[in-house]
Amino acid sequence: MTDSSATTNPASERHSWPLHTRILLGLLVGVVLGLTANLLASRSINEAQPGALDDITLWLRANLEFIATQIAEPVGKIFLRLILMMVVPLVVSALSLGVLELGDVRRLGRVGLKTLVYTLILSVCAVTIGLTLVNWWQPGASLPPEQRDKLAERYQLKAAESVAKSKQAKSIKDTLLDIIPENPLQEAVGALDGTSKGNGMLAVMFFALILGGALAVGGPRTGPLVGVLEGVFDVSMIVIGWAMRIAPYGVACLLFSITSQLGGDILYALGRFVATAVTGMVLQMVVVYSLAVWLIAGKSPLVFFRQISEAMLTAFSTSSSNATLPTALRVAHEKLDLPRDISQFVLTIGSTGNQNGTALYEGVVVLFLAQVFGVELSLGQQVTVVLMSVLAGVGTAGVPGGSIPLIVIVLQTVGVPGEGIGIILGIDRILDMCRTVLNVSGDLVLATCVAGRNTRS
Ligand code: ASP
Repeated sequence: MTDSSATTNPASERHSWPLHTRILLGLLVGVVLGLTANLLASRSINEAQPGALDDITLWLRANLEFIATQIAEPVGKIFLRLILMMVVPLVVSALSLGVLELGDVRRLGRVGLKTLVYTLILSVCAVTIGLTLVNWWQPGASLPPEQRDKLAERYQLKAAESVAKSKQAKSIKDTLLDIIPENPLQEAVGALDGTSKGNGMLAVMFFALILGGALAVGGPRTGPLVGVLEGVFDVSMIVIGWAMRIAPYGVACLLFSITSQLGGDILYALGRFVATAVTGMVLQMVVVYSLAVWLIAGKSPLVFFRQISEAMLTAFSTSSSNATLPTALRVAHEKLDLPRDISQFVLTIGSTGNQNGTALYEGVVVLFLAQVFGVELSLGQQVTVVLMSVLAGVGTAGVPGGSIPLIVIVLQTVGVPGEGIGIILGIDRILDMCRTVLNVSGDLVLATCVAGRNTRS
């Protein structure tokens, strides 16, 4: 798969500040203006002798809702639409090409199978930790009920509707069966608005997995289709790159629209969300990775983490698993002393296909935003979130912000408005740095476990 980036793009380098700084600035501008407008509109006025400030208050009371919902919000949605329009082609191409790369697995026999099994175990552990924490701490539930209703109403998601939706929710058996599409095109058409017959995006993902598997065994005959898929992937990434260039303005508008209506409570919820995501990542690193390295490879976790620290730091500063690959390979050879064929195979595939931090983060974001919007997710829908997050960990490009399009898709699939992404986008970069550390460490854990006890401790 080509290493293109959703967010790093030559055009964005023309600006003096990096994109993530401008998105953060967009967040700050949106929040400061939104909160100021909210405060001004809700202050009490001096009826007897209205001053200039009182005039502003009266004007805001009459116009703020219009500005927020009819101007700021539509502008904020432009970049989201650009992302959404590329999601289906991106998912199909990224996932099938990812599986195609994994298809080389057959050449390496046992190594391939071990890689696949450990990848699944590590990803499922990560998503489970994230979902358990977010269900337990309920970071999004700190929003007062009237504000939640306001938010839900604004995105045409009245509480009654979401309750009705969750009652129609399918059983786990049907949820799992519907992952296999009868007609992938029909699933793709309905994937974004929830009108698909089966499991929507998850079914499309399943189709992409099967397609990738078939391409892997098809050999040279299927080569032209691989070329087409590579082209589709590159084009999707270019368009998403364009969308991200206008993201700072989109985020400013979306946050203005939200905070001007809801005040500061949403920021408190956001703080709790960051704490939940970071705690989940720390648990995956300290508990799951340490146990895996210790039990499967018989290696001291302390020694292991000391040896891979250079790769962790590179991942933190680049926010990209792909960009960290050369460092990870060097660490695997020079510090961990892993067999070269195993580390090259596992780390190359893992830099795109094994992203535990991303999978954990996607699960946490989706449940957090469901709580913010007051969408009740049934057990079947939560299983969908787990499966989609695990698959998203395979399909996400190892580049800064690579998981954003997939988060929007999982949100839409379980009935949470995709616009919710605007709430977390402003602080995404710092969390991206953290989850990339987890992604890269996970690849090195994977390589160490696959190599087993042949490694030096
Ligand atoms: N930045 C991540 C990586 O490269 C992907 C993501 O979660 O956005 O590993």
